[in-house]
Amino acid sequence: MKVWDALVIGAGPAGCAAAYDLARTGRKVLLFDRSDFPRQKACAGGLTAKTVKALRYSVEPVIRQQMAQIRVERDENRSIVLRRRSDYCFMTVREELDAYCLRQTIAAGAEFRRIGAIQSIVQDESGVIVAIDGQILRTSFLIGADGVHSRVRQLTEPDAAWFWRAFALEACVPCSATERQDLVFDFSPVRDGYGWIFPKADHLNVGLYSYNQAEKIDRSRLNTYLQIRGITQAPTHVIGQYAGFGAAGHSIAETRVFLIGDAGGFVDPLTGEGIYFAVVSGQAAAAAIHSDLSGNGPAHRHFARHTEGLRKNLDIATKAARWFYSNLDEGFFYLSMPLLRSALLNTFADGIKLAGLASTVRARSIHRHTDA
Ligand SMILES: Cc1cc2nc3c(=O)[nH]c(=O)nc-3n(C[C@H](O)[C@H](O)[C@H](O)COP(=O)(O)OP(=O)(O)OC[C@H]3O[C@@H](n4cnc5c(N)ncnc54)[C@H](O)[C@@H]3O)c2cc1C
Repeated sequence: MKVWDALVIGAGPAGCAAAYDLARTGRKVLLFDRSDFPRQKACAGGLTAKTVKALRYSVEPVIRQQMAQIRVERDENRSIVLRRRSDYCFMTVREELDAYCLRQTIAAGAEFRRIGAIQSIVQDESGVIVAIDGQILRTSFLIGADGVHSRVRQLTEPDAAWFWRAFALEACVPCSATERQDLVFDFSPVRDGYGWIFPKADHLNVGLYSYNQAEKIDRSRLNTYLQIRGITQAPTHVIGQYAGFGAAGHSIAETRVFLIGDAGGFVDPLTGEGIYFAVVSGQAAAAAIHSDLSGNGPAHRHFARHTEGLRKNLDIATKAARWFYSNLDEGFFYLSMPLLRSALLNTFADGIKLAGLASTVRARSIHRHTDA
C-alpha cells in the first residue's frame, strides 16, 4: 500500500498553505476537499497586509481593491478614519481566492481529490490510517484543515473542550465601480461584535459578526442593518457560517494529526480575522512534518513550538475582545489617540507582537485613570 507523507483534509487557505509547503519540499501530499472549486465560502475575503506577506505567492490576480484606510464607527455620531501610507487590507472574493490558491498548490506538486465522507481515523506509532469513501489510505501524518465543523477534529478529539464557535452572516450588494466606498467596521448594530462593509469594486460585502451566543444574527437583522446604512439594493448571496476559536487553550499532545485554521480554532475573536491564522498554522504544520520526516525529532513538538507565538497572540486577542466589547466607549477613546491608533492599526495590518501592544494599552489606561 502506498504510504503518503501527509494527507490534508480541506483545501481552504489553511489546507492549501500546508499542502503547498509540503509539496515544495518534495513531500508526497494528497489534498482532499468535499467540494469542487470554485466553491462559495461565507467570508468577507479581507486579507490584511500580514496575510499577503505570509502567503508564498502573489495573490495580486485576485485582489479586487486595496485599502489604505478604515472607517471605525462607534455609533451614528462618532466615527474615526484610520489611515496609513501603505495599504493594509486587500479585498478578495473567497470563491476566486480559494480557487487561485488551490491552482498554485496543485502546480507546486500536491495531488487534489474530491471526497465524500471520512469514516475513521486510526493512529499508530508509524502513521495514520484513514478510511475515506470506503477506501483505506495510509499516511505518516494527517492534517485537519476542514473548517469549523471539522470531521477530523470530531474523530480525533471528540471532547475538544478548548474549541468554541461564533456566527457571522453576510450578503453582497451591487455597487458602481466608480463609486468611492469606505471599508467600515461599525460597533453599533450587535453586541460583542460588529457590522462591516467591505468594498469589492463591483459590489459591497456587508455583514454582522458577534461572538455572543445570545445575539440572534439572522436574515431579518441583516436586512434591517442594510436599511439603517441606507443600502436599498436587494442583497444577494446571503450566507452565514460559524468561525472556530480556542487555539490558545489547546495544548498539543503527542500526535500525528494536526488541526489548523478554523478546525484548530485559529481565529481572532476581536476582529474575526481567520485567513492569516489559517495560512500561518498551515505552514507551521508543514514545517513540523518536514522536520520530523527529515529525522529532526517528533512533529508534534515542532508544531507546538511553531504555533506558540500564534497561540499567545490569540490568547491576548481573546482577552482584548472581552475587554473591548465590554468597554466600547473607552476602547473607542483609545482608537482616537494617535499613538495608540497607529499601534493598533499596525498590529492588525502587520501582526507585530501583541504582548508589546497590550502593555502600551495598559500603560495608557493607567495614565488615563490616574489623570481623571
Ligand atoms: C461571514 C464570515 C466572514 C469572514 N470574513 C473574514 C475576513 O474578511 N478576513 C479573514 O481573515 N477572515 C474572515 N473570516 C474567517 C475566515 O473565513 C476563516 O477563518 C478561514 O476561511 C479559515 O480557513 P480554513 O482553511 O481553516 O477553513 P475554510 O476556509 O472553511 O476551508 C475548509 C475547507 O474544508 C472543506 N471541508 C469541510 N469539511 C470537509 C470534509 N469532511 N471533507 C473534506 N473537505 C471538507 C470545505 O469544503 C472547505 O473548502 C470570516 C468568516 C465568516 C464566517
